[in-house]
Amino acid sequence: MTAGIQDSLRQRGVRLTRQRRLLLDLIDQSGLHLDAESLFQMAKEKDSRLNRVTVYRTLKLLKEGGLVDELDLAHFEGDQHYYETRMKQEHAHIICLRCGRVEEFFGEELQQVRAQVSSQFGFEIVFARTEIGGYCSHCRVLRAEENRGQEESLAQPVRG
Ligand SMILES: [Zn+2]
Ligand SMILES: [Zn+2]
Repeated sequence: MTAGIQDSLRQRGVRLTRQRRLLLDLIDQSGLHLDAESLFQMAKEKDSRLNRVTVYRTLKLLKEGGLVDELDLAHFEGDQHYYETRMKQEHAHIICLRCGRVEEFFGEELQQVRAQVSSQFGFEIVFARTEIGGYCSHCRVLRAEENRGQEESLAQPVRG
């Protein structure tokens, strides 16, 4: 854990207990977008005394403390939320609506949008979240095959 994180926690009056640190480290190190249940399962392996309520409460606290971001990833799985570290550079999420694969786009362009919004609207930006939903290259092929299959079955004369 960097000194920067610990400073920002102290400023916000958040005490970094062992369990909070455990969760924060899991999120930081995975570099993924994990839901609360997966995080609970991972945390439990490291500390069997952890329970679900504590994990959910800790996630809320880490979010409020500005240490993790809570994402809904285009509601791909309904109301499910995902957590990721805020230590990463700001990026856009590209979500496949078929397989749920999430890619990250880190581009200069995102910073440009920020700067433009800021100057055009006189806006002080606290966060910017960009989500792009669609179909990944793998799923595009599968979808094309599925559509072909459907068209063929529609083209079949109905018997009986
Ligand atoms: Zn896909
Ligand atoms: Zn991300």
